[in-house]
Amino acid sequence: MRILVVEDERKVASFIRKGLMEELYVVDVAHDGEEGIKLASENDYDAIILDVMLPRKDGFHVLKDIRAAGNVTPVLMLTARGSMQDRVTGLDLGADDYLPKPFHFEELAARVRSLLRRAGTEKSTTLTCGDLSLDTVTHRAYRATKEIELTTKEYSLLEYLMRNKNRVLSRSLITQHVWSYSFDTESNIIDVYVKRLRKKITDDSEQLLIRSVRGVGYIMREPDEHDANEGDE
Ligand code: CA
Repeated sequence: MRILVVEDERKVASFIRKGLMEELYVVDVAHDGEEGIKLASENDYDAIILDVMLPRKDGFHVLKDIRAAGNVTPVLMLTARGSMQDRVTGLDLGADDYLPKPFHFEELAARVRSLLRRAGTEKSTTLTCGDLSLDTVTHRAYRATKEIELTTKEYSLLEYLMRNKNRVLSRSLITQHVWSYSFDTESNIIDVYVKRLRKKITDDSEQLLIRSVRGVGYIMREPDEHDANEGDE
């Protein structure tokens, strides 16, 4: 999952970025309002963390601009402690949540997980598909009760696929949400990662949870009774 952080204070921005990266998110940072608007319009983020006090354009203007452009990405606003007016203005402009500064990273991380859940249908911190489960707090994956060891990128890819279960995802969409920079469109990196991930999550039933969609990309789907050994690549 890819997150945009719009925060001008370098120390705070790098603290948030580092923490989110440890939570296995892909993170981009903008250091002023204009840059925030630019990045939000160029990339498809899963959540935006937006400070209110920003140079060039404040957080409220950024929020107003991105919502006016039809961008519905969940937004968490970082407000001044005790400023009820900040919170009201932010929520009325279309923010999904707010967090007063200073805050503990654990709370920011929990609020980000909550935003990502609200954007989808999952209400739990554990994502599931068949008997595959992914705990988004501990970052552990299981097939039934067997734990699956995943690398950082494999985790990110699996989280994105599971959060978008039953939706066909193009290779470019997957690239945008799982990698922070653009790959050569000819690159087969996604296919390589999917193949590796499939191998790790496959159990004895050989049910395919991640299916190829010819000419487009991939879809994660609940297994059907008849799926075992069905040829897919
Ligand atoms: Ca600031």
